Amino acid sequence: MKAAPGSIAVIREADCIGCTKCIPVCPTNAIVGASKQRHVIIAPLCIGCGLCLGPCPTDCIVWEALPSLTSVERRHKADLVKHQIQQRKAHQRRVAEKKALKDKIATDNIQQKLCDVFNKVASIDKR
Ligand code: SF4
Ligand code: SF4
Repeated sequence: MKAAPGSIAVIREADCIGCTKCIPVCPTNAIVGASKQRHVIIAPLCIGCGLCLGPCPTDCIVWEALPSLTSVERRHKADLVKHQIQQRKAHQRRVAEKKALKDKIATDNIQQKLCDVFNKVASIDKR
């Protein structure tokens, strides 16, 4: 979906079905809402990237002109967005580390079970 510089995304709440599909694609954590509840976009965090429009099944995310900001407000927004992007990356890293650990434990368990089976077979063969 095309980005719209100078615009921010807003959700037409009446058409939102709360499917949550827009949340994981937003790089700045600007979309909030629980499953089956209407979602909202936190305007100061929206950078107008347009990534949330594609996954929305009801096309209820639309563009709205970005209100003009003072230079202080622009800096504040940039800081907020930067912080959210860092938070998101840290969260994604933690999720990936957890998955890698779970996979390793599962692999270790399989290897341990295989060793047990081989040892049992070996002990039967020795009889
Ligand atoms: S346009 Fe981009 S930043 Fe704004 S809510 Fe959608 S995904 Fe998030
Ligand atoms: S993808 Fe669309 S319908 Fe689904 S929660 Fe987001 S805004 Fe609502």
